[in-house]
Amino acid sequence: MRKQIVAGNWKMNKTFIEAEDLLNDLKQLLENSKHGNTLVVVCPPNIYLELSTDISDEFQVFDVGAQNVCNIEFGAHTGEVSAPMLFSMDVKYCIIGHSERRSNFYEDNQLISGKVGVALKNKITPIFCCGEQISERKAENHFNIIKTQVDEGLFNLDKDDFVKVVMAYEPVWAIGTGVTATPEQAQEMHKYIRSLIEKKYGTDIAGQTTILYGGSCNSKNAKELFANPDVDGGLIGGASLNAEEFVKIVQSF
Ligand code: PEP
Repeated sequence: MRKQIVAGNWKMNKTFIEAEDLLNDLKQLLENSKHGNTLVVVCPPNIYLELSTDISDEFQVFDVGAQNVCNIEFGAHTGEVSAPMLFSMDVKYCIIGHSERRSNFYEDNQLISGKVGVALKNKITPIFCCGEQISERKAENHFNIIKTQVDEGLFNLDKDDFVKVVMAYEPVWAIGTGVTATPEQAQEMHKYIRSLIEKKYGTDIAGQTTILYGGSCNSKNAKELFANPDVDGGLIGGASLNAEEFVKIVQSF
């Protein structure tokens, strides 16, 4: 059976005290909540990773992920954080290919593919994001867009590496907009992504790959989204900034 995951992407939010409060609230709520086998991942800004991994290591109620990683391992790259550094801080996951990095920081599929490779080399699980713009969906080009992102960003991996990846379908028009993909739209695209994996890596690996949905997912719509056979959890932005709301999403399977 494949893993169910709910991951919180805090983006560039929270001061130190607010981050500490949110982590402690999450710890307390998750310790006292029933959420079956669902894995919880918290992806704070890098500056709070140590704070997060300290709590994670002590209480084991969530794992910690970064929101970005450099495609190079060491050297003169001012401001960057590398995969060996993340690994040395007990960081287990890293979001790669988020649409905000694609658009605001001009990350293309080639760069994203490099980041995936360097993360895996350093035992960090990539949460590989793909998603189409609204204009691409309106032009009925959304399947092609996803295929290209996945082909160029991910499918250069061999089977042994690919099985370690978590995928996230995040339609750009749903991110931070309050407009969620319908459960049917999410299922249709997740099924399509799984079919691409099947063609490339075979039925077993397609069946094992966790594919998360992201885009204005909250405690009111999570149940309906997660009920779909090919939706294995969520990558949650805005709604991960409130502990009670986030934990309700974690409990939505
Ligand atoms: C995201 O940024 O990955 C995301 C899904 O954001 P939101 O939940 O706020 O739409």
